[in-house]
Amino acid sequence: MKVNTSLTFYGGVNEIGGNKILLQDRGTKIFLDFGMSFVSKKQYYSLPFLSPRSEKSLQELGMLPKLKGFYRFDEDGPEVDAVFLSHAHMDHSAYVSFINREIPVYCGETTKIILQALGEVRTAALEFDVEYVLFKSFRTGDKITVDDLEIEPIHVDHSIPGAYGLVIHTSNGAVVYTGDFRAHGTKPEMTSDFVAKAKEAKPVAVVTEATNTTGASISSETEVRNKLDRIVGQTSGLVLADFANADVDRLNSFYRTAKKNGRCLAVSLRQAYMLKALCKDEHLKVPDLGDESILIFRKSKKRYRKWEKRIVEEHSDKIVDVFEISKQQPKVVLAMSFYDLEELVEINPQAGSCYVLSASEPFNEEMEIDFERLVNWLRHYGLPQYHVHVSGHIMPLQLKNILKEINATKIFPIHTEHADLFAKFIGDLQCETVAVEKGKEYKI
Ligand SMILES: [Zn+2]
Ligand SMILES: [Zn+2]
Repeated sequence: MKVNTSLTFYGGVNEIGGNKILLQDRGTKIFLDFGMSFVSKKQYYSLPFLSPRSEKSLQELGMLPKLKGFYRFDEDGPEVDAVFLSHAHMDHSAYVSFINREIPVYCGETTKIILQALGEVRTAALEFDVEYVLFKSFRTGDKITVDDLEIEPIHVDHSIPGAYGLVIHTSNGAVVYTGDFRAHGTKPEMTSDFVAKAKEAKPVAVVTEATNTTGASISSETEVRNKLDRIVGQTSGLVLADFANADVDRLNSFYRTAKKNGRCLAVSLRQAYMLKALCKDEHLKVPDLGDESILIFRKSKKRYRKWEKRIVEEHSDKIVDVFEISKQQPKVVLAMSFYDLEELVEINPQAGSCYVLSASEPFNEEMEIDFERLVNWLRHYGLPQYHVHVSGHIMPLQLKNILKEINATKIFPIHTEHADLFAKFIGDLQCETVAVEKGKEYKI
């Protein structure tokens, strides 16, 4: 007799991110990721003045699933057995903030390091608080048992280190979850390892990301490095670089480019803190803060937080401020985000400086508005903008080949705004593609 195994998607449906997938098998319940949905949040909130006050608001507006025995604020004991995080991006992990601290949260060792470091540098927030979370870390090759379920995590390549795909052996066959992954990054062999394991499991279902359906491109991190080399090599003034804090591959690319061109890479205090934490992970290659080509940029502000002061004290010989950056412009690649643009007033970039956007292009209206502001700043200081980036997500043709190889009975495409387009694109594969609806339980 067939036992009940099912999947319910509480996020990542018709949106990029916010993955929260409940897998039930007999009496066992586990969540695959528990992330924040940026899209739903922006539908109702405008930070900082209109922001969620309590978990009740988030449940009311459908951002947190209404479940019993799962949250910190529930009186009943935990009814969910475990949460598995594929990686540390907020859209997959942030909402563990709300869960009952008795529920184990399984994730890669690197993910744990990143989430704990982020927890320390962020100001305490309703939506991101990992204090007392019961982290249990895993590595590729581990097999984790939760009641009758067996879960195998296998590393994948993504734009943050420590990303995993999962093979979950249920009583009705294997369920594969890709998390976020790609085949064109610096470690494609990790993704191949995952695909091989997934195929071997002869799965009944694959839950896959399908982020890149429009605007896909063919590129690689090596190509990014070559482009950065050419840009930095030709620049006579300051190079400003905007890239994601936890994208270690990109940080390595900027570091190598700066060094090769006789410059220093000035990282932010936050990046410095993250690098310090990640150094503890022996499997990762990150630049050492003691390296002569690394500087730490201290933003001008009145008050520094405890962790900031600690970095400043421990690396006082490395600290530079706006005035030093201003004097050393041809010798520096300065990492800066949109929120650091105000620093340009004191830095006063000299003629011949440029700005490199090394993150994804704006993909929604609010980002468009910020992008316009960025362009205004660049116009004011005469800074041309280069866009040098490669996506953290798999490209459609490669994904289709992978899905063909894994050959599951059912495919659940999520983490995309174009699931219908993707379903047609893979329509000739020998499998059923499910058009996922939020909150609906799918038997497998
Ligand atoms: Zn994601
Ligand atoms: Zn991600």
